[in-house]
Amino acid sequence: MLKLVKRKKALFIVLSFIVAACSAIQTLNIFPVEQDVALGSEFALQLQNSAKDYPVYNNPALKNYITQNIFKPILNSPDVLYRDIFKYNLEIIKNDTILNAFAVPGGPVYVYTGLLKYLDSEAALAGVLGHEIAHAERRHSTNRMTKQLGLQMLTQLVLGNNPSQTAMIVSNLFSGMALLANSRADEDESDRLSMKYLQSTKYYPGSVKFFFEKMRDDGKVSAGGGGVFAFFSTHPDPIARIASADQRLKDAGIPVKDYRATGAGVFKEEYKKYILSQIK
Ligand SMILES: [Zn+2]
Repeated sequence: MLKLVKRKKALFIVLSFIVAACSAIQTLNIFPVEQDVALGSEFALQLQNSAKDYPVYNNPALKNYITQNIFKPILNSPDVLYRDIFKYNLEIIKNDTILNAFAVPGGPVYVYTGLLKYLDSEAALAGVLGHEIAHAERRHSTNRMTKQLGLQMLTQLVLGNNPSQTAMIVSNLFSGMALLANSRADEDESDRLSMKYLQSTKYYPGSVKFFFEKMRDDGKVSAGGGGVFAFFSTHPDPIARIASADQRLKDAGIPVKDYRATGAGVFKEEYKKYILSQIK
């Protein structure tokens, strides 16, 4: 009995060290990179099987235009590390009421027709896509799962091992949109990387904020409509993020432009011609 108590105490001390180490290393991720790809494929399959909620917009010409002209050039940025490991792919979801885009682990990126119809320049779309690619690149979902799973597992170990309960926790973590609810820190990092990625493209690098600025000026930031809610559920604090983006541009010596800008790097006419006019 005493031996068991001693062993539990030793285990507890070891676990305490692990917890301390985990919180010290914020970016710790217990999942191998391949796990992001496997998770993303599974997630993509689930979305395909939920065609009622996530109907794919079947428009190969539009998908091809965005993929070749905007999505791929961003992926070619020297700061994108997993381009050959992740299964990067763009999919359009037909729902004109949702102004959103999201990335699942390991490469698949989804954009709603509602967002495509709302934006008014290729730069604005490039900014959003760069941001979503950054969520995948920085492995935000599996980082978050590591933190949650880490704590859950440690609690399980300390309280006594119960395999069925552990299996339940894991399956809960792996299912549902919880994977996509990003923290403010993740959002900031993705905004920062969007700017970095876009610096090697023809697009204005600060364009991640164009979407937020347009939302703000259209009075959609404080409104609580369905589409707006969907956007804020996965992308918190747009107003503060505009200020952060402006500051980053200043720090990098890049002129601060807003979404009303025209001219070099914005591509409004092209957006009308090759994207807006192609959406029914
Ligand atoms: Zn985000």
